[in-house]
Amino acid sequence: MRILIVEDDPSVADGILDGLASTTFETKHVATGADALAAIQDFDPELVLLDLGLPDMDGTDVCREIRKISSVPIIVVSARDEEIDRVIALEIGADDYVVKPFGMRELVARIKAVARRSSSSDAHVAPAAEREFGILKIDRRAIRVTLNGDEIHLTPKEFELLVYLSEDPGAVHRRTDILHDVWDTNWYGTTKTLDAHVAAIRKKLGDPAWIESVRGVGFRFGIPS
Ligand code: CA
Repeated sequence: MRILIVEDDPSVADGILDGLASTTFETKHVATGADALAAIQDFDPELVLLDLGLPDMDGTDVCREIRKISSVPIIVVSARDEEIDRVIALEIGADDYVVKPFGMRELVARIKAVARRSSSSDAHVAPAAEREFGILKIDRRAIRVTLNGDEIHLTPKEFELLVYLSEDPGAVHRRTDILHDVWDTNWYGTTKTLDAHVAAIRKKLGDPAWIESVRGVGFRFGIPS
């Protein structure tokens, strides 16, 4: 799959290119909106990762311009200080969005999910992005979590962490892996942040059993019995 990466920050772009180097994706990197629009024609990408804060054009305008000439799936990449909610992302024609900093595993999962959806010709097929765990429903496309039908409001990072842990229920995830994948590869903070996020998710889900601590190792997602 050909992926166009539109990102003016060299360190972020390098991180993404490094992270995707181990995949089978073919990548092209551009740093401006004008180059992005040119690459839509020349490179003919099958997916676009679009940073919103670009030097020459507003990323939302780049997104709209791409939509005039192409239906290529677009994942918007936004920083916290250029916060965009999913409504705006969808309004400008994007398919999904991720908030910086993000983990590479999460980004690759999003890329695959968006690519899967766009290759599905049957619009009536339920998106694979939605998963149910008993009374808990996690919709990655809508970035929405419900418990018994009631929406649970998670922060973007709490959502990412819950998605990450629930990808493989019952599997134990090591603390270092979680910090690497859900936070970012340059994360030098303490694991207290991770504990705080786990505690917040447990509290919001109303049962600590959703995320079980595995002493000395990490955490495991499971459906409370
Ligand atoms: Ca930027």
